[in-house]
Parts: sequence; C-alpha cells; structure tokens
Amino acid sequence: MGVRFAHRAKPAKVAARRTTVPLMDFATLTPAVQSRLAKLGIHRLFDLVLHLPLRYEDETHLVPIADALTGTNVQVEGEVQTLDVMFRPKKQLVARVADASGMLVVRLINYYPNQAQQLAVGKRVRLLGEIRRGFWGDEMVHPKIRNVGDGAALSEALTPVYPTTAGLSQAALAKLIGKALRACDLADPLPQAMRDAYGLPPFAHSVHLLHSPTPDIPNVALQHRTHPAWRRLKFDELLAQQLSLRLARAARRERDAPVIAADGRLAARLVASLPFALTRAQNRVLLEIARDLAQPYPMQRLLQGDVGSGKTIVAAIAACHAIECGYQVALLAPTEILAEQHFRKLSGWLAPLDIKVVWLAGSLKAKEKRSALEDAALGVAPLVVGTHAIFQQQVEFRNLGLAIVDEQHRFGVAQRLAMRAKGQSPHQLMMSATPIPRTLAMSFYADLDVSVIDELPPGRTPILTKLVSDARRDEVIARIAAKVAEGRQAYWVCPLIEESEALQLQTAVDTHAQLAEELDGVAVGLLHGKMKPDEKAAVMEAFIANRIQVLVATTVIEVGVDVANASLMVIEHAERMGLAQLHQLRGRVGRGTHASLCVLLYCGPLGDTAKERLKVIFENTDGFIIAQEDLRIRGPGELAGVKQSGVPMLRFADLEADADLVEAAREAADTLLAHDRPAALSHLDRWLPGRAALLKV
Ligand code: ADP
Ligand code: MG
Repeated sequence: MGVRFAHRAKPAKVAARRTTVPLMDFATLTPAVQSRLAKLGIHRLFDLVLHLPLRYEDETHLVPIADALTGTNVQVEGEVQTLDVMFRPKKQLVARVADASGMLVVRLINYYPNQAQQLAVGKRVRLLGEIRRGFWGDEMVHPKIRNVGDGAALSEALTPVYPTTAGLSQAALAKLIGKALRACDLADPLPQAMRDAYGLPPFAHSVHLLHSPTPDIPNVALQHRTHPAWRRLKFDELLAQQLSLRLARAARRERDAPVIAADGRLAARLVASLPFALTRAQNRVLLEIARDLAQPYPMQRLLQGDVGSGKTIVAAIAACHAIECGYQVALLAPTEILAEQHFRKLSGWLAPLDIKVVWLAGSLKAKEKRSALEDAALGVAPLVVGTHAIFQQQVEFRNLGLAIVDEQHRFGVAQRLAMRAKGQSPHQLMMSATPIPRTLAMSFYADLDVSVIDELPPGRTPILTKLVSDARRDEVIARIAAKVAEGRQAYWVCPLIEESEALQLQTAVDTHAQLAEELDGVAVGLLHGKMKPDEKAAVMEAFIANRIQVLVATTVIEVGVDVANASLMVIEHAERMGLAQLHQLRGRVGRGTHASLCVLLYCGPLGDTAKERLKVIFENTDGFIIAQEDLRIRGPGELAGVKQSGVPMLRFADLEADADLVEAAREAADTLLAHDRPAALSHLDRWLPGRAALLKV
C-alpha cells in the first residue's frame, strides 16, 4: 500500500489554542518535581504528553453491593455502619459499609488518621477496589475511599492511572499532564491521506482520548490497547524508530569507504582448494557481500546463519576480495578460544595462497604482540585475527578495508561504532548464529542489511535431543563411555550460575572429578573461564587432536567451537539455560557425519517457563523457530543483541501483536522522508529528541 500526498496541512486550531492558553514551561517546575519526573523518563513537556496511563479505573457507575462479584473491580457506595480497630492478627481498621442491597467489609492494614475519619460511622463513602472473599465475608482491602454527599455526581470518564514514583501523586501527575496537553503543539505529522490509509485517528485526538477517555469508550479496548487511539500511539512510536534507523542508514551512506571491486581471482583459488562445494545459500550471500564491497560507502551487513551453516568460509572469501584489492582485513571474535580457532582455520585456508594471517591475542608475549601490531600498522599483515578486547586497544591499520565481527550479538552497536572511529570507515560484516525473528529484524536491526544462510551443508546427520532427569546421570555417563569406545568425543557442559561464578566453577570441577573417576581409561579435560588463555588453548588443542575424549566445560564453549568428531553433548541443568544458549550449545555437535546426540539433563521440579523452554528445544532444531519462540516467551528486550543494539526499546508497541503496525510504520517512514522531511524530523524530535538533534547536523 503506497501512500502519496502533496502537502502537510497543519490544523489551524492548534496555533490558535497556543496563543490563548498560558503556556507552561518545563523549566518553571521546581527541581524536586523535575527530578521525580526524570525518574519516570520525563525530561521535557512533551514527555508528559507521551506519559500514558497504565490502566484506567472505572468510577463512572455504581454497583449495588449485593451484585458485586468476588474478584471484580467495582465502585460501590454506602454508609459506614461500624468502625473498629482490630489488633489480631495485626493492627487494622475494619469498617462495615452498607447500601440498600447489602453489606461489605472494608479493611485497612496500615492507615492514616484521616482514613479513620473518612470511615467514621454514618459517613457516606464511595469505594473503588477489588471484591475479595475475606474472613468476615466479602471485603475490600485498601480500596480507594472518597466521602460523598447524597447523589454526588459520578465521573464522566474513566480515571487514568499513571506509572508514577514516590512523592508524585496521581493527582499531581494528572494535573501536570493536563497542562502539558494544553501547552504543547500537538500538530499531526501524518497527512490525512496517510492516516486514512492506515485507519489511524489524529494524534491530538488520540492523546486527549487516552489521557481522559470519554464515557462511551469501553475499558477493555483501552486495557488491551486495541483502541484506535492506542494503535495511533504505537504506530507513532514505531514510526520514530523506523525514521531514526533510516536516517542512521542515510548518514552511513555519506561516509567514505574503499571501493573493493575484486574480480574474485583470489577467492576462486580458495574455493578450488576446499574439500567441499559451497552451498547455494553461501554463494548467494557472497554475491550480496561482493556487491556491497564495491560501493563507495561502508557496508554494514549482518550475516545470519544457524550454527554450523558455514559462515566462516564466507568470511574468508569476503576477506579474499579485500586482500585482492590491496586492503587489510580484521576478524574479531568474542573469545580467545574462538579467535584462535578462526586463526587456525583461516591460516589453513589462506597460507597456501601466500596470505599471511596474523594472530593478535591478549595472551601473546610482549615481543610477539609488538611485532603483530607492527605488521598491522605497516600493512604487512593482510589479515589480522584477534579478540574484541585486543581490537579495543591500540590497533592501527595502514589501510583497513573490511572488518568482520563474528558472533555479532556479543558485541552490539558500541563495537560497530568503535571500529568506525579509527579514522577510516571500513566495510563491516557482522556474523551471528542467533537468528533474528522477522519483526525484530525489521525493527531493531533495520539499519543493517541482512544476508541469511538458510541451508546447512549437505550430509549432516540430524542431532537427536533427549530430555533426561538428573536422577539418571549414571546412564548418561555409561552412554559417554560407549561413544568414546566407538572413537567419538563428548562435551559435558555445566551451566552458568548467575549468582556465583565460584559455584559454577565448583560444579565444573566436581563433574570433572566424577567423570575422570568413573570413565576408566578415558582422558577427561576441563575448560572454564577462570583459566589462563594459554591453558585454555592447550586444553582445546588436546581436544581437537583427540588426546582428550571428554571435555567438561563451563559455557565458554558456547560460541563457535568446531570439533567434528565430537558427537555427544551433555548439558547439565538445562532447565536454567535460555533457549538461544541451548540452541548454540547443541550446535557444537552434529558437525561431522556421525549421528549426534544432545542430552539435556534437568533437575526437577520444573517451573512453567523452564518446561516451556525445554519443550521448544526438544521439538525444534530450526534456529529461526527457536528464536521466534524465545521472542514469544521472553519478549524482545531479553533477546540476545537487542539490548546492545543501541535502538531504544519500545514502550507501547509489541512487535508480535502489532506486526501489522511495524509494516505500516516502515512504509510511512519512507513516504514521510521522501515527501515531508520537516514532518519526519519533528516527529522524531517528539519521540527520540536526542536522535533528531544528532541527525540534523
Ligand atoms: P558457523 O556458521 O556455525 O560458524 P562454520 O563456519 O564453523 O559454521 O562451519 C561449520 C563446518 O562446516 C566447518 O567445519 C566448515 O568447514 C564446514 N562447511 C562450511 N561450508 C560447507 C559446505 N558448503 N559443505 C560442507 N561443509 C561445509
Ligand atoms: Mg562460527
């Protein structure tokens, strides 16, 4: 659906209103109020307009006490019959309130003297709260209490309840919001035609409605945020996000990057030397990358592919393109184990082509490190492989053309920016095995181009997953013995224990001791985060060479480790791990042609979420489906990489439930930027003030 429009008409009404109503200025609020508002994320007048109610209380009608159902929120009115202070089980105020239909108990456990006065015998009170089954019959505990005269008018509209903070009452906040609504320019950035196309009400109308809904509006539509006014606000929020991403992307196009138009000579030699043929998906993403590299502005491409899909060779071929054109390439990995593995693999592939691969690790001796740094700075090293930590320190390149970041979700946006700040703007290829569900990709990663390897190399045997109770640990150990006897290797992974790294280490050490004792004649190794890098490397090397058959590891092996002969993975306390992590870990096996098994050991009793997670991982092997389920169970904020993506979290819109709005906002962002840039910028300024300013310069 394309929306075209010629001109943005500003409603004349708004301008008129601004001159007649005395303006409120945020700066005139007392520092105390300002700091309380700041706690709510409110820093300007307009933030008050966007501070929307959490829910609404219905004080528009009264329910006869006899009709008030247990478990419902209602407003009743009656006269106080009795008032007592009880001391058991703790001090509390107990009143009985009756109307013509029945009687209700009101209980206040901590109370102020004025509340006792409100409930004095003979007073008429309006009570708003939940009806519960109490010791003395139906009751309300800490209802909202108001003294009223006979026949006092009821509220005409639902009463908004705002998120607030200590020292700022609902009433005070509502008053400030009311003033802000009058003082702010609520002009609509969307032209009528666009609003009509998406079925969205005007902005001013929507915020007024949400802050003080009229009586005819059903509470459910507001509560569930399905009312058109809510949809308008969600749309606006998503639109701001899309605009910010689009502008960031446009800004990137303004920067210069080396034009890498390789004819593919070097890459062809590499491909010819491989013992396998590239998959169709690998070839496709390579074309996409080559096209980007030939542009005069920096590529920012996310290469997604499930664990084992073969991203490393794609990176190596992309590196060949840059090297062929005389540029240097940096390859960053999140851990030293992974970086070293890349170093070995790439050296193996590239050394025969006379390409020197330089290893730059924190654990290098000072002299070696100096020489590696020199190679980078002088341009002698065409390809430098190292950890993220190393690249953060002073690594200078003579002519860096391409930076490849493996397991991108471990780095996030800060890392992207750091690479850019080194004077040049190299092309960037980010690789991630954490699949990003579509809505999320459109939303949080929309400033990146995405290539997907959606096919595994042929000949992989599927991984069989088993859920096994920890009570059957012995059987699992016997299984390992059998596999080792067949010549295979196994991982045994101990979970990250959030509260205590020491405890995690202990678990790994204990398990190592147990396995070493019970597995006679089997070499059992131990790998954990507290070991020195060279110790880790030595253990890993022994495992790769099959001098160690069983590797007990903390989650340090989560990413990227590739040992084809390891076909059994045991994950201890699988119930404590997240879905993405389980999927990553499981991906460490099933890399060779041997039938692979992943045993998820769990300790009961299992909570609902743990049960749900284990079911998902048990039933699915497709990373995209798992990520989708993860998004459903946890919400986007917790998904790997989103927090670090640098894109502000959404307050109102829900990527899953409002997927149609994400789509619409994308379209609208394009239209608005093409036809009415000032409207786009002012919209951005409303929602993401810092960003608009940043992008205007
Ligand atoms: P990931 O995408 O998880 O980083 P890797 O790049 O480590 O995966 O590749 C996993 C394994 O598959 C490696 O041993 C790699 O050499 C191999 N591989 C890559 N591409 C192919 C292919 N087209 N055919 C067969 N094996 C491949
Ligand atoms: Mg990898």
